[in-house]
Amino acid sequence: MEHKLYYKDPYITSFWTEVIDTGKDNSGRDFAVLKETAFYPTGGGQPFDTGIIDGVQVIEIEEVDGEIRHYLERPVEKKKVHGQVDWERRFDHMQQHSGQHILSAAFEDLFDMETVGFHLGKEFVTIDLDTPELEEKVAQEAEKVANKIVAENRPIIVKWVDAEEAREYPLRKELSVEENIRLVMIPDFDYGGCGGTHPKSTGETGPIKILGWERQRKKIRLEFVCGQRVLKQLQAKQTIIRELSGILNAPEGKLPEAAEKLVQNGKSLDKEVGEAREALIRMEAEKLVTDEPANFYCKAFEGRSLQELQKLAKFAISFNQKAVFLLVSNDGERLQVVCGRGENAEGNMKDTLTNALSLIEGKGGGNEAFAQGSGKMLISPEELLRCLKTSLEA
Ligand SMILES: [Zn+2]
Repeated sequence: MEHKLYYKDPYITSFWTEVIDTGKDNSGRDFAVLKETAFYPTGGGQPFDTGIIDGVQVIEIEEVDGEIRHYLERPVEKKKVHGQVDWERRFDHMQQHSGQHILSAAFEDLFDMETVGFHLGKEFVTIDLDTPELEEKVAQEAEKVANKIVAENRPIIVKWVDAEEAREYPLRKELSVEENIRLVMIPDFDYGGCGGTHPKSTGETGPIKILGWERQRKKIRLEFVCGQRVLKQLQAKQTIIRELSGILNAPEGKLPEAAEKLVQNGKSLDKEVGEAREALIRMEAEKLVTDEPANFYCKAFEGRSLQELQKLAKFAISFNQKAVFLLVSNDGERLQVVCGRGENAEGNMKDTLTNALSLIEGKGGGNEAFAQGSGKMLISPEELLRCLKTSLEA
């Protein structure tokens, strides 16, 4: 344990030591082993440290069979070197980690909700609470108590003990090791075994803010941030709010109202546009059958949806029950086809369509009087119309 400087003092960021071993892992990454190190390796839910060793960037730290491997951008020699831990990253981890201890303890003490999972992510921290439901007021109360513990600036004490001594403390969970037990304690609040790095008092954790939660199987996954991350989140949210405020031309407190109004406006506009479009199609259909009185209509269009073609055909049929309508549209990617006829016209529209669709690898359906479908642009709309006509006359 002597070589683990981060246990001796988690505030060591700069140190001189010796490279005692070097090597490459299976994927060819260079690593160095140091006589002692302040770089924390991935473990106990806490991510590894980064920094610089002898001027070379540290990419990852891993403990492999008791050996702490410092993966480096390029190899270093076996010699005396200087190590510099990226303190911003490490202190952030210390804040999130201790915040997790405090928040988990609050949920357990107040509501008997045990933490059964923990993840310290790049932006957010999550814990899994062993409960199927979480009410807003319960989350708020736990957050309040956690922040009270922070404000009281209680010491966070680390103590190495053996199994017998460990039994003297009210530990939350069974210990995972039998010897060299590292207890992390916040007096009269939280006692447990932990291998991570922590600040020396709860105050350094900074504020603890729950951001949200969702159900994950029978548990609740709760997302939160601590310390500097709270400021970062607040800044990000402020930027979004300010932008929204400008876009919606409303003060912060009136944003939901303004957004709701906008959505409702959009919905009624959509409805109006839909109705107007339908009226236009109806007029178009009426004009078609009035301008060119016939019993057979074959028309190719550009850029019209299948839905639009269907409407056009239905209106046209309503104006001329004696006619057959074969309509095709090319929307740039696919061919849309509609075959429809009036009550007093003849022909099997479904068969007519099916024959034509086979030429364009299309799919569709319908009945004897009305059928529609679409397929690939394997032939021109005009060619497809000719095929439909031939098929109908056959
Ligand atoms: Zn811990």
